[in-house]
Amino acid sequence: MKLPVYLDNHATTRLDPRVLEAMLPYLTEAYGNAASNSHGLGWAAQQAVETARAQVAQLIGATAKEIVLTSGATESNNLALKGAVEAARLAQPGRSVHIITQATEHKAVLDPCAWLDKQGCRVTVLPVSREGLIDPEELRRELDGEPALLVSIMAANNEVGTLQPVEEIGALCRERGVLFHSDAAQAAGKARLDVGRAKIDLLSISGHKIYGPKGVGALYARRGVKVAEQMHGGGHERGMRSGTLNVAGIVGLGAACALAAAEMEEEAARLTALRERLLRMLTARLERVRVNGADVSGNRRLPGNLSVTFEGVDSESLMMGIKDVAVSSGSACTSASIQASHVLRALGLSEDDAHSTLRIGIGRFNTEEEIDFAAERIVDVVPQLRELSPAWAEMT
Ligand SMILES: *Cc1c(COP(=O)(O)O)cnc(C)c1O
Repeated sequence: MKLPVYLDNHATTRLDPRVLEAMLPYLTEAYGNAASNSHGLGWAAQQAVETARAQVAQLIGATAKEIVLTSGATESNNLALKGAVEAARLAQPGRSVHIITQATEHKAVLDPCAWLDKQGCRVTVLPVSREGLIDPEELRRELDGEPALLVSIMAANNEVGTLQPVEEIGALCRERGVLFHSDAAQAAGKARLDVGRAKIDLLSISGHKIYGPKGVGALYARRGVKVAEQMHGGGHERGMRSGTLNVAGIVGLGAACALAAAEMEEEAARLTALRERLLRMLTARLERVRVNGADVSGNRRLPGNLSVTFEGVDSESLMMGIKDVAVSSGSACTSASIQASHVLRALGLSEDDAHSTLRIGIGRFNTEEEIDFAAERIVDVVPQLRELSPAWAEMT
C-alpha cells in the first residue's frame, strides 16, 4: 500500500492509466491543430477531437454537436450562466433577468451568479433541507412568481454528495420555457444522468473529476439553446468558445467519459460497499459521529461520498493527526481566516459542527486495505483529540 491513502476524490481524481495511454500520441507525434484542414496532422487531430466529443455526448445522452469543449467545469458554468444571460439580452435589449439557484452550489456557480447580480440580474438562492435537497414545490412557487430566464441547480454536491431531483426540476423548467443548467462536475460518470430524461438545457462537466486530465471539460448546450461566447477569437466550437483546442486533454476527457460509462454500475456498487465498510468501522468504535447529507441507505448520495462530523474534534487537527490519509475538512481557507463551509452551514450545521467535519471521497483506485488503514488512523486519533478538547469535555 502506497502512502498517502488518497480519499479526496471530490477535489480531484488520479488520471486513469488507460486515459493517459489514449492521450500520449497527441502529446507527441500527433501534434496537429484540430482547426488545420490542409494536411493530415490537422485531420488526425480533428478526428480525435470528434471521437472524444461523441464519447462525452454518449455519457450524458446528448449528441456530439451539442458538446462545447472548454477548460473545465468552472469555465462551463461561467459560459452557461453569463452566455445565456447575454444571449437573452442581445435578443431583447433592456429585458429584466431572473436567475434561480440554490445554496449549496459550488463557488463556480455562486460567484458568476453574484457577478450577474451586480450586472442588474435578480438572483434567487433557494434553501436546502438537512439532507441538502431543494424542495421542488418551493422551486415551482418561485417559477410561478417572477418569471425566470434560467435555473441553475447542480446534479451532485461536491461536499456532501447529495443528488438533486434533476428530473423533477427539468420538468418544472421545461413546462414554463425556463432554461435549466446543471453543474454535473461531480455527478457525470458516477450517477445515472441523461440530459433528455432530465430535460436539461445546459450541463457542465470536468475532466479531472472523472479520472481524466485537469484543465479540460465540456458544456452541453442543447440544440437551439443560445449562449453568447465569453471567449472571442476565431469562432471555434460553433462560435461559443474560441481558442485552439487542447487535443490531448480532449482525447483524455473522451476516454474518461467512455470508461465511466462502461464501468459506472460496477464501480458504484464497489464504492458504496467501501463507504459502508468505512462508516461501520467508524461508528462501531467512536461515539457521537454523524453523517451529513442524504441518508446513506438511500439513493440520493454519490456512491463514494462520506461527510462525517466528529463532535468535539477540530477537523484541522484531525487532518494533521491522520497525516498519511488525504481527506479534506468542512472548512475553506480564505486569505485571513478559516471559514465554515457554506454547504454545511446551508444544511443547518452549526459553525462548530462544520469545523468538526471531514469530507471523504472514495474513488476508483481505493482498496479495502486503504479503507481499513484510514479507519484505523481516524479511530486512533479522534479519542486523543477529544481528551484535549474543552468542547468535548463540555459535551460529555
Ligand atoms: C470541481 C468542481 C467544479 C470546478 O471544476 P474545474 O474543472 O476544476 O473548473 C465545479 N463544480 C463542482 C461541483 C465541482 O466539484
